[in-house]
Amino acid sequence: MGLGFDRRRFLGGLGATGFALALRSHGRAQTTFAFGLPIADPGGLSGDGFIVRHGFQTENTWYNPGHWHTAEDWYRLNGADTAGAQVLAVAEGEVVFLGSDYPGRVIVIEHAPNLYSMYGHLAPESVTVAQGSRVARGQQLATVATVPGWIAPSHLHFEIRTFLYEGEVNGESPRYAYSCGLNCAPGPGYWPMEAPELPAGMGWRNPTHISGNRLLLDGTLTVQVPQSTTGPVSLRSVPWQWEDSYEIGLLDLYPGAQFTVLAVDSGHDSSTGTSADAYYLSYLIETGNGTSGWVRAAVSDYGDTGSDGRPSSVRFVLLPVLS
Ligand SMILES: [Zn+2]
Repeated sequence: MGLGFDRRRFLGGLGATGFALALRSHGRAQTTFAFGLPIADPGGLSGDGFIVRHGFQTENTWYNPGHWHTAEDWYRLNGADTAGAQVLAVAEGEVVFLGSDYPGRVIVIEHAPNLYSMYGHLAPESVTVAQGSRVARGQQLATVATVPGWIAPSHLHFEIRTFLYEGEVNGESPRYAYSCGLNCAPGPGYWPMEAPELPAGMGWRNPTHISGNRLLLDGTLTVQVPQSTTGPVSLRSVPWQWEDSYEIGLLDLYPGAQFTVLAVDSGHDSSTGTSADAYYLSYLIETGNGTSGWVRAAVSDYGDTGSDGRPSSVRFVLLPVLS
């Protein structure tokens, strides 16, 4: 978090307004439109009722030990079946790949040159877009597939990356053999921990950070408390991971409550962290009684861990409300 340290020093002398404005400009790159979340129940808020069991660049010890996950695997909370959940485009773009048996269909959307989102394990009969389709943020692409007999329960594998094909990953000369083969858009979904580069070094990006760094591009933002969040959370002076962060109070959260966001602090798009502890997403919110404070929105969860015991799962305490 070298940049975060420099930014904090720079912001040290600013009042609350300058603070928020300065943070809003952080991470503005590649696109000028906001990114949302990739999964929802019909009529529900995106992300509400779901958890990332295996986060970006974490290890999934029961499915593919010894490898970094290149995606976020979204599951329903509390072990409920994820099949049938709606899969949504996270931003506007063009469908540049539709196919595969991953198992289930794979869709890849190009949002900007060198910025793609990828959605895996989709029910084939549920796909509502075609290759070449233009899609809007929040548009339904498909639903999550049921895959009988597969080791993994139904889930959405969701990637953000800079490439459609990258020679050494999924192009002409993959460095590591995997079932997808040559010039295979879906790619391997994992990258060996023994490789000299992390997934971020090959072009995969932390989806939560990509979204977090772009949430305020529309100028205003509201966040909502999901059904799974109750009770008090720590209200901080600055984002929780900063050295001088301290608690300024507790905030009771009730499902459905909404807050205006004054600023967002998110980690780097190409984060080099390798556990859920390296997820950084905090909101500076108005609490409604004339005060404001920072709330940690992406929280490590030990529901799944890497072989070294560090958390692989991420749950969200507040969710963005995007039209
Ligand atoms: Zn996955």
